[in-house]
Amino acid sequence: MPRIIVLGSINMDLVVTADRFPGPGETIAGDAFRTFSGGKGANQAVAAARMGAKVAFVGAVGADAFGADLVAGMAAEGIDTAAVATIPGVATGTALITVAQGENCIVVVAGANAAVDGAAAAGLVGPGDRIVAQLEVPVAAIASAFAAARSAGAETLLNAAPAQPEVRDLLPLTDILIVNETELDLIAGWLGASGDGVAARARALIAAGPSTVVVTLGAAGLVAVTAAATVELGGHRVVPVDTTGAGDCFVGTLAAGLGSGTGLADALETANAAAALSVQKPGAAPSMPRAEDVRAFLS
Ligand code: ATP
Repeated sequence: MPRIIVLGSINMDLVVTADRFPGPGETIAGDAFRTFSGGKGANQAVAAARMGAKVAFVGAVGADAFGADLVAGMAAEGIDTAAVATIPGVATGTALITVAQGENCIVVVAGANAAVDGAAAAGLVGPGDRIVAQLEVPVAAIASAFAAARSAGAETLLNAAPAQPEVRDLLPLTDILIVNETELDLIAGWLGASGDGVAARARALIAAGPSTVVVTLGAAGLVAVTAAATVELGGHRVVPVDTTGAGDCFVGTLAAGLGSGTGLADALETANAAAALSVQKPGAAPSMPRAEDVRAFLS
């Protein structure tokens, strides 16, 4: 069975809720504190594993309790964590999130994620595999892993989030690019690529390398383009509870679907349904649906 190798970030999200945000220098009492596993890479790996794919995660944590907990959590999802590096003297990636009055204030510390190295991914990937990356780990690591993956006969999927201009270096090594509308517009701007409408702007990116560009449109679904074809799928009508991680659910499920050999159109349909299910539950990784949930939703 071909594997999905996810090269990406893993964070501990530390979430406090309070009546209001503290001002500079102020201490206030909060209501509740919870921890959640996070990081786009880890979320996408969980989404793919819950769809039944064979998944290996390549990332880095610090030699601390958060790191150990996160790796154990991934292993409990059936994900191969042998290539997660433990970096001495560096903290595991963290996101400090304060929620008050329906808004978020977030400080992210990349920590060990900044030390992720592409060599571990290059050593894992084989013919027929798919490698999936996002932009929360160093671009140089992704570039070396994608180049090795291509030489090994694997397919490369890039979720260019959060968007940054260095993505230009990765596009020639990318087979399938997945972005939301904001990321599409930023990247098109950096490349000087223009077009009237989402599909035209997406197709303009094909000249930079990817053979397929998928643009997620939130509740409105998605548009995917290749040089020859356009697929548009409307979003499923659901009542969203928490859209955090919808994009990660979409990417992980898409990679799993492509790995199961059903083709792009079917994989897009499954990912669109899985992501619609994920927005109906709170949290990111905990809201990722399982293959049977998606089948039931689509039947
Ligand atoms: P996030 O940063 O919140 O994870 P994103 O901006 O990367 O999200 P979106 O385009 O918002 O990604 O959503 C990804 C996919 O999730 C959409 O293409 C769609 O399939 C699904 N989705 C998101 N929001 C909704 C919604 N309100 N109703 C139905 N499906 C949704």
